[in-house]
Amino acid sequence: MPTSLSAAEALEELKTGNARFASGVPRADPFNSELAALAGGQSPFAIVLGCSDSRVPIEIIFDQVPGSLFVVRVAGNFLDSDGLGSIELGVEHLKAKLIVVLGHEHCGAVDLALKYVRDGRGQPGYVQEIINAIAPAVRATRDEEGDWYENAIAHNVKRNVTALTAKSNIIADAVDRREVKVAGGIYSVRTGQVKFKVSSCDGYPKVMPLFEARSGSF
Ligand SMILES: [Zn+2]
Repeated sequence: MPTSLSAAEALEELKTGNARFASGVPRADPFNSELAALAGGQSPFAIVLGCSDSRVPIEIIFDQVPGSLFVVRVAGNFLDSDGLGSIELGVEHLKAKLIVVLGHEHCGAVDLALKYVRDGRGQPGYVQEIINAIAPAVRATRDEEGDWYENAIAHNVKRNVTALTAKSNIIADAVDRREVKVAGGIYSVRTGQVKFKVSSCDGYPKVMPLFEARSGSF
């Protein structure tokens, strides 16, 4: 049975769960009596694309038990084809109602991308692949007012929120049918709080002009 929560209720559950975590009174017990029942199947209510950063453990910061969240994690919380496939699986097969792209303050992957764009400092191995995926968000915020690093973190979230529906017909169709909503948030590693910045619930545009949706790699 898929979740009985609506997309709006799923977002509210994440907000209240994060409030419990941030205030130091979480209640999720990962070894609760319902654990064995999950052997029969899963019905996560939300999908989260988050960063690999050890300070941002997704289930913990939203105070959720196993079976609740379908999570994709990659340094820099950006979409690639594997991540997109996982999210499509969560939408199409598991009927999750909400997709959240979650960035965070002091993201090391975005910092490396900033150093690459600003100073031309690349990284060895596959780390550069990650930098290349985040660099467009850094370039797009070069002339914005305020802190370039913070702006790039926020733009990287927006860009990947937009990419969900721009790249995936499965997700776009589910959003059009109002079965799924998409949101973006930023987690504070200082306070433990998530601020939801952008959301299709708030009329967030499906396609941003800055995002070159069909121009090649993510
Ligand atoms: Zn990060």
